[in-house]
Amino acid sequence: MTRPRLTERILAARLQRTMQGRVRQRRIVTRRDGVRYEVDGRWLTNFGGNDYLGLSQHFAVVDALQASAARDGAGSGASHLVCGHHANHDALERELADWLGAPRALLFGSGFLANLAVMQSLLTEDDVCVQDRLNHASLIDAARLAGCKLRRYPHADPEGALRQLRTVPDGVAMLATDGVFSMDGDIAPLRELSLVARVQQALMYVDDAHGVGVVGPDGRGCVAEAGLDASGLLQLATLGKALGGYGAVVLGSEEMIGHLAETARPYIFTTAIPPAQAASTLAAVKLARRDHWRREKLQSLIAHFRHTALFRDLPLLPSNTPIQPLMCGDDKRATALATALEAQGFWVPAIRPPTVPDGRSRLRITLSSLHTQAEVDALVDALTWARDAVEMGYGAGAKQSSGAAVA
Ligand SMILES: *Cc1c(COP(=O)(O)O)cnc(C)c1O
Repeated sequence: MTRPRLTERILAARLQRTMQGRVRQRRIVTRRDGVRYEVDGRWLTNFGGNDYLGLSQHFAVVDALQASAARDGAGSGASHLVCGHHANHDALERELADWLGAPRALLFGSGFLANLAVMQSLLTEDDVCVQDRLNHASLIDAARLAGCKLRRYPHADPEGALRQLRTVPDGVAMLATDGVFSMDGDIAPLRELSLVARVQQALMYVDDAHGVGVVGPDGRGCVAEAGLDASGLLQLATLGKALGGYGAVVLGSEEMIGHLAETARPYIFTTAIPPAQAASTLAAVKLARRDHWRREKLQSLIAHFRHTALFRDLPLLPSNTPIQPLMCGDDKRATALATALEAQGFWVPAIRPPTVPDGRSRLRITLSSLHTQAEVDALVDALTWARDAVEMGYGAGAKQSSGAAVA
């Protein structure tokens, strides 16, 4: 018996990533002050996070975390079904269900876990899950874990979804889509997709990780924006993006959510999020519901960014959400642009395969209500300069000295 050597496989994979310009490295953040991040001893203006409403550092949210931690401790101590289900979890589930207009909500450790849970507990090998080609990785992995048939349709194409559902007429069917697409920023055609789901008797599942808090009336997300009835479908919201915390929630009918709570392995066999985390997210939800000005400011920053960037011929994808990708195509070009931006004081992540398809590398620019118009203007100047510098082959950092003036 000769087994392949794992260490050799790892080395070969690393070498390939190096040659493709796809090595991934973490950066250490030492301090944060709103959108200003201290990284490797330098302060950068961050345009890469998902804290769209700036709630992760809001005093009321942090205060709720501290007060609850002092009272309830640092951790929950067990899974929900054993003895980890705290009144704070219950209060948060009720508030989220009320806000998003669903009969019942169930908290999860993360959006990734929630997606695994939904499909693993609802679908079997006889069933089919039809998904948008650009869906989040956790939805794809969830279908694999469930062992169901997985059929993907072209991006935002309801007719494609219909065709795929027709190819598997037997078994239970689920139609799963991102609400706001995490790397493109566009919104799924939910009204048309829900018609397709109804005609094909499929359960509609909307992963609205990036929509809740930001999109729709009172920030209720893409489902509410499309005018769909939240009790007739399943919906995921994450607590770690616009709500500024950590964890996720799945919303739907009493029966569906009850089934998840008793059967989903990624729910049963994992520790409940800390009660203090639930308390602080409850404070964040109340702010997100109450204060429209953060969404209004965000929308005006988005409009301003698009207007000024398109005027400079910067290749933005069509998007009206805080996710504003700038297409680069080539991986190395994306990395060079990100490096050139950092030299000018901006932190914008280069997103490369496998997060996006081959040849579709991009800068994923995200806006927050904490940004100022002046910061957005400075970013557009820096992007324009970086684009020109990289195009002319000066490469990254060629104009470092003028960075301070731009930033
Ligand atoms: C971020 C994200 C997730 C995962 O959520 P986490 O809470 O970060 O694990 C799931 N789906 C989509 C579309 C996402 O963008």
